Amino acid sequence: KEASLHETDPFIPKIPPFDYSPPPYTGPPGEEILAKRKQYLSPSLFHFYNQPLNVVDGKKQYLFDESGRRYLDAFGGIATVCCGHCHPDVVESIVKQTRILQHSTVLYLNHAIADFAEALANKLPGNLKVVFFTNSGTEANELAMMIARLYTGCHDIISLRNAYHGNAAGTMGATAQSIWKFNTIQSGVHHAVNPDPYRGVFGSDGQKYANDVQDLIEFGTSGQVAGFISEAIQGVGGIVELAPGYLPAVYKSIRNAGGLCIADEVQCGFARTGSHFWGFENQSVVPDIVTMAKGIGNGIPLGAVVTTPEIAEVLTRRCYFNTFGGNPVCTAAGLAVLKIIEKEKLQENAFVVGSYLKERLTSLKDKYDLIGDVRGRGLMLGVELVTDHQLKIPAKAETLYLMDQMKEMGVLIGKGGFYGNVFRITPPLCFTKEDADFLVDVMYYTMSKM
Ligand code: PLP
Repeated sequence: KEASLHETDPFIPKIPPFDYSPPPYTGPPGEEILAKRKQYLSPSLFHFYNQPLNVVDGKKQYLFDESGRRYLDAFGGIATVCCGHCHPDVVESIVKQTRILQHSTVLYLNHAIADFAEALANKLPGNLKVVFFTNSGTEANELAMMIARLYTGCHDIISLRNAYHGNAAGTMGATAQSIWKFNTIQSGVHHAVNPDPYRGVFGSDGQKYANDVQDLIEFGTSGQVAGFISEAIQGVGGIVELAPGYLPAVYKSIRNAGGLCIADEVQCGFARTGSHFWGFENQSVVPDIVTMAKGIGNGIPLGAVVTTPEIAEVLTRRCYFNTFGGNPVCTAAGLAVLKIIEKEKLQENAFVVGSYLKERLTSLKDKYDLIGDVRGRGLMLGVELVTDHQLKIPAKAETLYLMDQMKEMGVLIGKGGFYGNVFRITPPLCFTKEDADFLVDVMYYTMSKM
């Protein structure tokens, strides 16, 4: 398929060479799986492609379909596969641990769990030293909000408009995009104006947006709050990096109102932003509670909440328990992930390759009116498409069309933002400059053919 494309048009960008081909696929064809999905899996509005890929193999930053065709995975399983698909050290740690002990609960001691908790705590600043394991980002945020409420004795939580924090009862309240909500009771969550430098009313003025949080505290609550939750760079929200100076000012207001500051690092943590290991470090703040998932296990179901011993103490009032959270197979994978990020200098790579990619994408912006904004940090980048620069009219249909075209040419990216008009680029952190060139060339090519 790849070869025939190049025969019809020699200018089509070529995927960089890669030293791996999967064994021949012997499973059922994609159409059969799609038919089963339609019959047996729950329906959802949440799909990207007209014809979803049947992915049968993955190595590093590449995925393979049933015909053996290779795709550059520039979405990384939604910012999850940080070390690359099927990294041998992650695979080895999972296999080894599965052979020794597949499951254990908090009733017993196990070093695979304790070792990872220690390594994770050592990656966090300040007194953030106590870890609770969960299975997902949603669970981590549910727990973080509950801890803040228990600790402060208050119910009110402030979140941001455009945020995504999960899809269970409490987190769906904190999430603030209608598409992700099912008429749940908001339950004490107040949504502040989003400090979005591109679309926000105050541009890049972090202090002005922070004043809105102060107003919310004064006019929307008793003056006392349980806490504030936000990402440093909104992922699902369309790679929106909070306006500079925003978090320090908001953290001050929240703490003055007796609340705790929760950093949702589900997407922007684990070296993704390149300049720092954690997203919140880009705004020079130290949260009271940090939540994480996705990159923590390179795709293995795992999440965590990390807080201070003093705050963690509230959970001793009752039995807090999670059957699968902190499963030793998952924590063994987590420990391997931390070692790989360090050994392979993935944070440094995210910084260098991410800066290069951002520069190249920004130069595309000068060529195409369709690109309204290029933003983000490290390997968490967004390209917002608009049909009118002044009015910022979202180019929703064009975004979907281009994603489909890029897939046909071997590049997988995500999309997000309230209007679904932002390309989300969050590849495995082993992404190379050659991959970045290929991605930009494919984007350029597909846009020029529109
Ligand atoms: N928080 C953020 C920032 C997320 O992006 C997501 C998922 O996309 C979640 C929380 C929920 O995580 P999960 O899907 O693992 O429940």
